[in-house]
Amino acid sequence: MYDILLTDAMVIPVDPEHHIWEKGYIAITGDRIAALGPMEELGGELPQARQHISLKGLVLLPGLVDGHGHAGHCLIKTLGEHREDWEDMAQEIYYCCTDEEFWYAEGALAAAERLKFGTTTAVSMLGSTPRIDRPEPVGANLEGSASVGIRQLTGIGSAYGAFPKRARVWEADGSFREYEVTPEMAWKTTEETLRRYNGRHPRQIFIVAPGRMGLRPDESREMNIRHNREMDRLTREYDVPLHTHAYGGDVQFLYDTTPEVLTPRLSLVHSTGYSDRELEILAETGAYVFHGPTTHSNITGHCRVMEMLEQGVNLAVVTDGTASDRSYDLWRDMKNIQLLQRYRYKDGSLLPCGRVLELCTIEPARALGMDHLIGSLEPGKKADIIAVDVMQPHLAPFGVMPVQRLVYHAMGQDVDWVMVDGQVMMEHRRLTQVSEQAVLERAAAAFDTMMRRLNRRDILENEHLYDLRQG
Ligand SMILES: [Zn+2]
Repeated sequence: MYDILLTDAMVIPVDPEHHIWEKGYIAITGDRIAALGPMEELGGELPQARQHISLKGLVLLPGLVDGHGHAGHCLIKTLGEHREDWEDMAQEIYYCCTDEEFWYAEGALAAAERLKFGTTTAVSMLGSTPRIDRPEPVGANLEGSASVGIRQLTGIGSAYGAFPKRARVWEADGSFREYEVTPEMAWKTTEETLRRYNGRHPRQIFIVAPGRMGLRPDESREMNIRHNREMDRLTREYDVPLHTHAYGGDVQFLYDTTPEVLTPRLSLVHSTGYSDRELEILAETGAYVFHGPTTHSNITGHCRVMEMLEQGVNLAVVTDGTASDRSYDLWRDMKNIQLLQRYRYKDGSLLPCGRVLELCTIEPARALGMDHLIGSLEPGKKADIIAVDVMQPHLAPFGVMPVQRLVYHAMGQDVDWVMVDGQVMMEHRRLTQVSEQAVLERAAAAFDTMMRRLNRRDILENEHLYDLRQG
């Protein structure tokens, strides 16, 4: 007897055989998919299950995997979007104006946004470059996201930019203690965080996520080599993915100095400005490129997506949500990547919809070393399933060319139902684990506290808002 039987929905499992079952079923035992296939295979008799859920009018897909975002960004989105010193603003907020309540409230808000858009596995770097002085913010953020029911991977590793940085720890009575943050703090905090938080909750994983790896311009060659080695050591010792931002020259430096770092467990976010040789190195080593179509570095630089894919480089699409100007809606980025690549190469045939769907499901799952668990609907894998409501004008009449219809026309808000680990986490767009109202209220209160401490109007006011250019 199965625990749950899902029936009557179209099923697009994104499996290696590229099945599409117009009317399919999925049987679930515990947190796993026990069986799935076309309903006609059942011969008119439904198997026994404790709970039977008919999902007529919906399409079942594997939960989306968003390989990169920034914890904290949901409470600073839009702020300072017009300012050139945005990075400094983000650092000031994260290091000097936040407390555990901020990180918990943001974790829950981000997880609610992502889950409601159909992302069931989410990766976040804590803060912007990120914040590295204490493990507690990571713990609070993981706890907030876990409360919503998402599968969350959050990391820190090392920060970049000028040191020493200032940080404040806020007490309940409104006072604070201020201290200097040095680069050495990062390694200690990362290891302490790995020890403290992994295994605490079945859907929380702490990963190693330094702000940048390779040849960081603010550091000496020797310091960079030491840093890259240390990040690799932590990754191997605790058996977690290694996740970082990287740009032109970084891959070459890693290859020349610490080639052991370049494995398929390494995901390099943004990856703009790579040389021909760096593309060859990526193809040889299997290290992943996590491409955010709308991230700033991809607007000012160039991630050579088509060349990478043609040369066999592993690649996934990520949102890089949500500050200052992005969304956690991965459905948007399915369209963004097509539009940008087709425009760049003046070729409308590039990146068909099936391939794009894989770049948001099974490919990022592989990069995280989790493709045996998530990223497609197959027997033995986790029951991380989403259902899209296709009985809506912008998707109707639904039936023919379903993959293209979804990738071109569906949006995050069309996701009606979400299951993670065999548990229904959203039903008719209502979260089941938390009160959405409470998540919103807690986030608003944390935002107000942060803004009071920051005390800056200039990040809200844009005198060029209706001009041709801002700033
Ligand atoms: Zn990023």
